[in-house]
Amino acid sequence: MRKSRIIMGLGIAAAALLTLTACNSGTPGGSPTEDSGSGEDDGTWFTVAEGVSLEGSPTFDAISERGTVNIGVKEDQPGLGYLDPTTGDRTGFDVDVARWIAASLGYDEDQLSFTAIPSANREQAIINGDVDYYVGTYSITDDRKEQISFAGPYFVTGQGLLVAADNDDIDGPDDLAGKNVCSVTGSTSIQRIKDEYPDADTTEFDGYSQCVEQLKNDQVDAVTTDEAILIGFAAQDPDNLKVVGDVFSEERYGVGLAKGDTVLQEHINTLFTDGGDIWQAIFDKNLGPAGVEGDQPDVDPVS
Ligand code: GLU
Repeated sequence: MRKSRIIMGLGIAAAALLTLTACNSGTPGGSPTEDSGSGEDDGTWFTVAEGVSLEGSPTFDAISERGTVNIGVKEDQPGLGYLDPTTGDRTGFDVDVARWIAASLGYDEDQLSFTAIPSANREQAIINGDVDYYVGTYSITDDRKEQISFAGPYFVTGQGLLVAADNDDIDGPDDLAGKNVCSVTGSTSIQRIKDEYPDADTTEFDGYSQCVEQLKNDQVDAVTTDEAILIGFAAQDPDNLKVVGDVFSEERYGVGLAKGDTVLQEHINTLFTDGGDIWQAIFDKNLGPAGVEGDQPDVDPVS
């Protein structure tokens, strides 16, 4: 395994110094390793692979020709995909997963172009080739697999509920009857409420941060989506917000890819499988502080 240029990931807060390597010398998804560092808190480091070739991947060919990687993300979900409006730093578990993949393909931070794409527009952005891959709380579903492919899963969570800290009449989806619940257009979350809890009134926006604003302004009674997302919002404002009840779905997060790019799909799956401690380091840094729990799932080769 060859080590090469070292770059620093951005916006790192809580982790001990980690040397994260994502190497690839000829074999797609060569195995990354973690070396422990001095304990100083100055960042996550991905070693950028050199000499990568992914023969038969149209996406990789397009990236090579362009010289930059176009990545779709969320930017209003703290801990997962977040753009700090003041510093311009992008942080979060999903964003670091996206960086890890890019490093394994041979691209460093200044060769990455991030675009925020809301839930409802993800498939189309991938189909259009606007993004090379998408990493943003994107559940693997059969419907979506008709239009795109997924690598992963790289994380599993479930749908939950966020309410005002002083609310004590909502503890699960059955309590939503006659209440106003907010979620995002095009998400599995809003669809499940409409299909399975039709007595709830729904309000929809493009992003979850808009729903959280509505909740704080008493315009809605609850926000519903994946618990990992809700915990991130609650951690930012624990005096006013709380996550309640048990999860009521299973959401398996995948990396969205152009349909049929099995070479890139297998490359990313191998990266996840052979990634050593990298997954855990990225998880601990981004989701651990807010109290999200979870283990790395096995990849599903037929995603
Ligand atoms: N994971 C769910 C979905 O993919 C909800 C979160 C989101 O909208 O990104 O629909």
